[in-house]
Amino acid sequence: MDHIRRPGARLVVASVSALFLVVYFALAGFAAEIVWDVAIFIQLAVALVAVLGFRRHRRAWLTILAGQACFLAGDVGFAVLEYVVQSEVYPSVADVLYLAGYPLLAAGLIPIARTRRGRRDLGGMIDATIVTVAAAAILWVFIMDPTAWDSSTSIIGRLVALAYTAGDVLALGVLALLLSRRTGNERPFWYISASVATMFVGDVAFSFMALQDSYSLGGPVDALWYASYTLFVLAVMHPECEHLGDGETAADTRLTGWRLGALAIAALAAPTVLIFRFDSVSTSQASVLLVGTLVMFLLVIVRLQLIASDLDDSRVRLSHEATHDALTGLANRTLLARRAEEVLAHSAPNGTIAVLCLDLDDFKPVNDLLGHPTGDRLLRVIARRLSSLVGEGDVVARLGGDEFAILLADTDSATAIAVAEAAIDAVRRSADIGGPVDVYPNVSVGITFGGTGGVIEDLLRDADIAMYSAKRRGKGQWALFEAGIAEHVMDWLELRADLVGALADDQLLVEFQPIVRLADRRVVGAEALVRWQHPTLGLVRPDRFVPVAEDSGLIVPIGAWVLAQACRSAQAWDPTATGPEISVNVSPHQFRDARFVDTVRTTLAETGLASSRLILEITETTQIADEEAAIGMLHDLRALGIRIALDDMGAGFASLRYLRTLPIDIVKLDRSFMTNLDDDRGLLSGVIGLVRSLGMIAIVEGVELDVHERTARELGADFAQGFRYSAPIRNDAFRALIGTPVASGT
Ligand code: C2E
Ligand code: CA
Ligand code: CA
Repeated sequence: MDHIRRPGARLVVASVSALFLVVYFALAGFAAEIVWDVAIFIQLAVALVAVLGFRRHRRAWLTILAGQACFLAGDVGFAVLEYVVQSEVYPSVADVLYLAGYPLLAAGLIPIARTRRGRRDLGGMIDATIVTVAAAAILWVFIMDPTAWDSSTSIIGRLVALAYTAGDVLALGVLALLLSRRTGNERPFWYISASVATMFVGDVAFSFMALQDSYSLGGPVDALWYASYTLFVLAVMHPECEHLGDGETAADTRLTGWRLGALAIAALAAPTVLIFRFDSVSTSQASVLLVGTLVMFLLVIVRLQLIASDLDDSRVRLSHEATHDALTGLANRTLLARRAEEVLAHSAPNGTIAVLCLDLDDFKPVNDLLGHPTGDRLLRVIARRLSSLVGEGDVVARLGGDEFAILLADTDSATAIAVAEAAIDAVRRSADIGGPVDVYPNVSVGITFGGTGGVIEDLLRDADIAMYSAKRRGKGQWALFEAGIAEHVMDWLELRADLVGALADDQLLVEFQPIVRLADRRVVGAEALVRWQHPTLGLVRPDRFVPVAEDSGLIVPIGAWVLAQACRSAQAWDPTATGPEISVNVSPHQFRDARFVDTVRTTLAETGLASSRLILEITETTQIADEEAAIGMLHDLRALGIRIALDDMGAGFASLRYLRTLPIDIVKLDRSFMTNLDDDRGLLSGVIGLVRSLGMIAIVEGVELDVHERTARELGADFAQGFRYSAPIRNDAFRALIGTPVASGT
């Protein structure tokens, strides 16, 4: 059926149809009528095949086709009466068939012209009615009224003639409705409109001629009717035709120039006729013109009312757009500020308002790695969750990017902190946002309080500063604004700016802290620890800048650099596979980057280091136990021959769970065990026992004193690390220690 929808098929139909029309005009009498009927029958048959292939609006188009078939039946009936029966009866069966076509045509076209758009639908409908009423009034004066009083015809004859004109008014109404709905340029739409238009013009011309008895077969009016059939066929053959009724596409009932022009002409037509033909119109004609004018006047008023409420709507929409965030639908900064000013101005003398600034901790990597649409979905999910945390008079706003704010209109510090904690929890709940992995976003929250006389700009700035101070404490934390923290935060922001150039400017370096075998105190490996030689601040400790690097995403290139540096040094100490081991810290951020395993693989290949000498340290704050992708990466790394160490293993239950869920070879016991040795000895003993029973290696960190070392050895630890042996030192200094016993004298 598909070839019927090709442009070529329409060209063939149009050409064959034109050819038939030429033959029709060349012939005369009964032969001509047969050519006409056959030509139209063929075309309607093609149309039927096309419409049966429709998946949408098939019933409507079949109804229109039935209308066309009625017209054809009328043509056939007319020819048979004229040439076979040879009786020029009027009205006849043929007229009944013709008249049946109009309501079918309208019944099919109206659902296609509808837009289902409520008030907009109404606007188009009123425009169409105005044009139709005007045309009806004119047709009344020039055709219907003279026909009605034409005493040369029978009463039945006059009624049928009136019915024809009524059918034409109906057709015109449908045409006006169609035209009022479309601004697009769809071909099938123009075909079907032209089909109705040519029919209407043909009918009106015919009615005029009939009044003056000047119509004869084979004239130009026939060509109009013929074209009406062909245009209908071309419409339904078009592949887009079945979508014409889809409605939502092109409905636009704004008062464009041509629409206004059409409406003005329509509204003025009846009164104009009345004025210029005043002396020749009869009372009945005049009253029809007057009633028509009145009806149009009322319709115009309704139309004005519609336009006014449309304007109201757009005003409401514009003001919503100006005060809300388009992505999440939350309030924006403007609305937050406005609401805050109201609250600050009207709050009770000792009422408290709180402003919370929220900033996602790892939004940038989510956005970069999973794509912006995924990032947008995450922001929307978070917006929804935050909104559910606050009450009626409170405001949740998106300030931009991954920054949100909450205004608590009447609160106290305990409530505000509870909201901050609820927000952190709500954001961290895993969100299925359609990416390849679930994400567990963290948010840092800064809180500040204000009361009567406060200024929202200050509150937002303070909450922002508090938020940065929360970020410094790690992910998913909250902090209250306090005098003095502003300075720290400025430090943080400056560090962040400076860190951008640190790698390129060679300001980073790696130190090595020996790892010692407890049995003989020999140095068997080292942990690589990054340092930053800041141009003005001096040596900056990783505790201070690693969180900054994580927040800005810079930890990924920095981590890769440290890894390469560590592997290269280890290979330089000893190129054999049995040389000292090297431990490198890996931040959770690096694990979120799918390319991490590749980075490690190429680093090993480029430096030539045996993978059995590399240990990667991960911390339990990494949260990777919940992330399938990260666990997969750990397995991939182990498949390369690398070992994994769980760093800073404390006494918490979480750590015990990690021992079970993560593929781990080595456990590094947090130095807090050493500092609280008196209290924690029993616990330490249990943990070391557990680690060794799981077949893992235990390294004790923070060994500073003789008693630390003794305890570690007694409890069965394998290796130790700490100031008792050596602080972290530069490459050359470390090289001298390899394989030698350290601290044996003390
Ligand atoms: P960490 O992995 O627990 O590293 C051990 C830290 O303990 C080092 O601090 C080290 O100097 C210190 N330390 C060693 N022995 C003793 C001791 O006997 N007593 C005490 N009190 N401390 C001792 P550092 O170098 O300041 O590093 C701090 C943290 O920064 C590291 O903790 C690690 O989590 C992180 N870090 C260091 N380098 C990197 C790196 O390249 N990448 C990443 N992601 N994190 C790093
Ligand atoms: Ca470590
Ligand atoms: Ca550690």
